[in-house]
Amino acid sequence: MERIALYPGSFDPVTNGHMDILRQALALADKVVVAIGIHPGKTPLFSFEERVDLIRKAARTEFSEADADRLEVISFSGLVIDAARDHGAACLVRGLRDGTDLDFEMQMAGMNGTLQPDINTVFLPASPQVRHITATLVRQIAKMGGEISAFVPEPVAEPLRLRSGAGV
Ligand code: ADP
Repeated sequence: MERIALYPGSFDPVTNGHMDILRQALALADKVVVAIGIHPGKTPLFSFEERVDLIRKAARTEFSEADADRLEVISFSGLVIDAARDHGAACLVRGLRDGTDLDFEMQMAGMNGTLQPDINTVFLPASPQVRHITATLVRQIAKMGGEISAFVPEPVAEPLRLRSGAGV
């Protein structure tokens, strides 16, 4: 049976931290569904279509073709457990950077596990070289004209600079 993992988040835009978790998830699951949460009323920096495109390009750049082919990118707007069930996922993948992530993620895992006991949450530890990266800070640095190439996959850097409009 194919083991499918669902990796939910905002991915606005995908960072080296997300790619680290994705790489680990691909080693554990046969297929990984990256699920981009769409929040009505929240205006993201990149549209859903753009975020999908950046994740696909980053995967093609950083992973083997066979691994990139095991990724699917979708959107969801309701409960993450409903998205997981709709896509046949056996587990949810979440990355842990620090104790703050742990406290919040334990609450989410507990709530989701109660709502849908069949779907388990798997926590994956951030690798030391990326554990400080957050998409929020990357967006802020880009907006102020800072160098962001150490934080995002190569295909993301230029679109992020252009979109952030630093100095434009
Ligand atoms: P959310 O708004 O749900 O936190 P994000 O796109 O910011 O969405 O993150 C999605 C997932 O990726 C979360 O599980 C988060 O912990 C994880 N993540 C984000 N950045 C990193 C990082 N630098 N290292 C490891 N995991 C990360």
